[in-house]
Amino acid sequence: MFRTTIAGSLPKPEWLSETQKLWPQWKAEGDALAQAKLDATLLWIKAQEDAGLDVIGDGEQSRQHFVHGFLEQVAGIDFEHKVEMGIRNDRYKAMVPQVVSALSLKGRVHATEARFLRAHTTKPIKFTLPGPMTIVDTVADRFYGDRVKMAFAFAELLNQEALALQADGVDIVQFDEPAFNVYMAEAADWGVKALERAAQGLTCKTAVHICYGYGITANVQWKQTLGEQWRQYEQVFPALAASCIHQVSLECFHSKVPAELMALLKGKDVMVGVIDVASDQVETAEEVANTIERALQYVPHERLIACTNCGLAPMSRAVAEAKLKALADGARLARDRHEKANSRP
Ligand code: ZN
Repeated sequence: MFRTTIAGSLPKPEWLSETQKLWPQWKAEGDALAQAKLDATLLWIKAQEDAGLDVIGDGEQSRQHFVHGFLEQVAGIDFEHKVEMGIRNDRYKAMVPQVVSALSLKGRVHATEARFLRAHTTKPIKFTLPGPMTIVDTVADRFYGDRVKMAFAFAELLNQEALALQADGVDIVQFDEPAFNVYMAEAADWGVKALERAAQGLTCKTAVHICYGYGITANVQWKQTLGEQWRQYEQVFPALAASCIHQVSLECFHSKVPAELMALLKGKDVMVGVIDVASDQVETAEEVANTIERALQYVPHERLIACTNCGLAPMSRAVAEAKLKALADGARLARDRHEKANSRP
């Protein structure tokens, strides 16, 4: 009951890359960089286990950014000539690569880190991939001329890699779709279908993470424009509830998402965000347990997984470590309270 996991990314140590940046520069090259990425992965596997988390990830230590890490292994993309593009409906500008011809995979994308993760923990492991709609929103299209067509082209490639990750021993494949919270009508219309194409044929657990973004200034300012109640999930959750995806990760703590929207995810495991990624203030176990209890009004206890609101990548390492511990401690407290409450005569 109340298993714990992270949304995906964790901060990179200062010897691996620049810190507290969304697109950090690596500090080594070639073999030295490959080794440094795995060293950082090992460090975070240990930190997650020490904190007491139940499902372990690689902390995305091997990718510069959660979308571009995948794109680097895709043929048909020009990384040499990046262009500036407004992404997430122009919320912020990013230098993005361009799709210039039909897409295909050059080979495996995450085999090294997935197998490394499998080899270094006996706990269930989760691996994250960007979702098709979010990828489409993070590259410039000079070839397909149609967002849906391009999303399904990416979904096919994601599916190839997801099936291979499953064969590597990954227990949960998670697709990250922050774009679902920006283009809600499109997400309900074709975004979820593209996601299902990416998950086709998987027999392991599948998950989707939908958030309001990392705790960077552009996102914090955007959230201030969303009003008193954030109801974006309301449009997308019914389509997800009807989909083949098993688990849905959402923001909860310190967000203005009405908790009752979680009731729209009937039949799904719900990864409830109990850790704020936009504040360095470390949650108390009490706060985490209270958020879990709030969610329990709408999510059956056996379907509730405690999670972070989003990735922790741009935070400081010390804060991230403390937040992992708060997550595990809070879930334990909630479990104790729940068991006590239910054992009363
Ligand atoms: Zn997120």
